[in-house]
Amino acid sequence: MKKALSTILATALLCGCGRRSPELNAVKAAAEAMGGKDKILAVMTLIVEGEGENSNLGQNRTPDAPLTVWKITNFKRTIDLSDGLNKGRMRVEQVRTAQFPFALATVSRQNMVLDGDVAWNVNEDGSPSSRLSDKTATDRRVELLHHPVTILRAALDPATKLSNFRKSGNLQLVDVLTANFDMLTLALDGTTHLPATVSSMTDQPNLGDVAIETSFTDYADIGGLKMPKRLTTKIDKWVQSDIRVSKYTVNGNAGDLDAPATVSSALAAPANPPVEVTSEQVAPGIWWLAGSGNHHSVVFEFADHLTLFELPESEARAKAVLVKARSLAFGKSLTEVIVSHHHFDHSAGLRLAVNEGLTIITQSGNVPWFKELAGRKHTIVPDELAGNLSPEPIKIKPVDDMLVLKDASMELDLYHVKDNSHSDTLLMGWVPRDHILVQADLYDSGWLRYPWADNLKQNVALRQLKVEKDVPIHGNIESWADVLKRMDAKEKEKP
Ligand SMILES: [Zn+2]
Ligand SMILES: [Zn+2]
Repeated sequence: MKKALSTILATALLCGCGRRSPELNAVKAAAEAMGGKDKILAVMTLIVEGEGENSNLGQNRTPDAPLTVWKITNFKRTIDLSDGLNKGRMRVEQVRTAQFPFALATVSRQNMVLDGDVAWNVNEDGSPSSRLSDKTATDRRVELLHHPVTILRAALDPATKLSNFRKSGNLQLVDVLTANFDMLTLALDGTTHLPATVSSMTDQPNLGDVAIETSFTDYADIGGLKMPKRLTTKIDKWVQSDIRVSKYTVNGNAGDLDAPATVSSALAAPANPPVEVTSEQVAPGIWWLAGSGNHHSVVFEFADHLTLFELPESEARAKAVLVKARSLAFGKSLTEVIVSHHHFDHSAGLRLAVNEGLTIITQSGNVPWFKELAGRKHTIVPDELAGNLSPEPIKIKPVDDMLVLKDASMELDLYHVKDNSHSDTLLMGWVPRDHILVQADLYDSGWLRYPWADNLKQNVALRQLKVEKDVPIHGNIESWADVLKRMDAKEKEKP
């Protein structure tokens, strides 16, 4: 048995890295189709310029709606392979302009850099950010390989393992395991032999295991090398980035891609930065949980249980919020969580809530999507629910137009926010006893503008609420008079 296994392993290794394997034949044919192996190996720097669109993942109006997008201009991706493919350096610069109502800067200039295993960003004022996480560095290192030139460089590298040659329709597929242990799948067009797609797996905290796939189309001859003029990257089923290339520069000046000493000598940011959650009683039996970040929660004490409004931002925050909430009312168990809407930042604690057997209260338009999220695979970065060998099925209490949660101790009314352009599956909370409004994404005192000021006022009028205090999921607690004053002042700045 032992001998048989070792023979199989030896055979597998021979097939995987044998230099006359079907994998290598396919890769060599692709290199030939692109303009020749020597031309590909001679690429030391590659600059890709163009424009297109980026999507705003997890921020659509309803779970099934198309994603909102950022228009991308001044796109420039600079790749430097002069220190070798496995110590690649890359800079991606672009200007993003929001094509949707947005309360923060609608235009932002991004500058994202990788130097080997060090990732950082350059702030708009030119200063470097602190060192980003190893996960970000890995994602960028793999992103560097999502181009025909770089993936073929990787596939032709003797230190790379090629395996699992197969066909799918007119595509030939080869798995590529780099010397950095990054695994990608290269798909070659069976007719032209040109690279059609590169795909790789990564973790997205809300979605879990996701495939990232870049398609290469509109090939053109660039100084004897065939290169795609269109690069379309999907994450899972959503287009994440769609770039139309206007210019390629081969072996041009890549500029300075060395990590600044302050960045390279620093420890990479932790995958889960520490979270602080504070509590502040805003009325009898009502606590506002704030702390680090700008995603808050609200706890309501009913006669025999606690109800939480929002479990946001990340699983780490969600855990800390549950600990804090449970410490507030001795002997009462937390049984249900209101998830205001489906956006990824607001539903980040959904799977943790499912794992803890809590009932999810949300607008009915979110129910199928939340069921799907609860069932997704999280094997790359397992979360608590993925680690639960016998999880209970998700428990959801859907809200159509409104729901009254009421007993002898507390009343919390939930209303569907009508005609909101940010989310059509959004709930807001109302405490009749204290005239408190609990809202997410309708108003934040820190915003630059208030795209939903009219919508907030209309929904308050529709429900005939005499609001005295806003207890928000983003921003500070304010009197309703101050909320109106701030929204009206900003409204007058509109052109
Ligand atoms: Zn939102
Ligand atoms: Zn929000």
